[in-house]
Amino acid sequence: MTRLLLIGPPGAGKGTQAERLSAAFGIPAISTGDIFRFNVKNETELGKLAKSFMDRGEYVPDSVTNDLVRDRLSHDDAKQGFLLDGYPRTADQVAELDDILGAAGTSLDAVVLITADTDEVVRRLLDRAVKQGRADDTEDVIRHRLAVYEEQTEPLVADYSSRNLVVAIDGLGAIEEVTDRILAALAERNVSPRV
Ligand code: AMP
Repeated sequence: MTRLLLIGPPGAGKGTQAERLSAAFGIPAISTGDIFRFNVKNETELGKLAKSFMDRGEYVPDSVTNDLVRDRLSHDDAKQGFLLDGYPRTADQVAELDDILGAAGTSLDAVVLITADTDEVVRRLLDRAVKQGRADDTEDVIRHRLAVYEEQTEPLVADYSSRNLVVAIDGLGAIEEVTDRILAALAERNVSPRV
């Protein structure tokens, strides 16, 4: 049973690594962003609520997000472990996750922090913006988004670092190479897929 968090900036291939780690460990990859987008698309009550915040580029309120994750982690598939992607993002969410895990008598095995050179990430995101015709994704907007990510992530990383849970991995390189780096770093902490 492996319980992981995955933290990383936009453009560093986090989604891809989440899928690969999920497959390697046989645990569900749970992305709050994906769950919100699914609900928006299907026009559920949750989707209608989340949309107004997402459209403004704001966080969905902690109470809503925490209830969503508490519910999702109670499903059978997550009892065998999980990889959370995009949660927690606030101190309140960190406390909620501690509470959920503590009540279940479990805890996190590691927090995988994907790092990437800012200029390289900007290049990737600009390239993606051109290919997807997202003209509003200018270099300034992208750099701002990355600065916001740094600012918001820093306190969480500091908290998990103080608990000695953070494994920092350079996210640049071939997809397989990055996965291998993550698996090797986790194995050093005796966090390995069961064979
Ligand atoms: P993401 O794909 O992870 O960037 O998430 C897309 C959007 O979903 C974010 O901009 C937020 O509006 C919302 N969201 C995702 N995860 C969270 C979270 N942990 N807390 C609050 N809002 C979230």
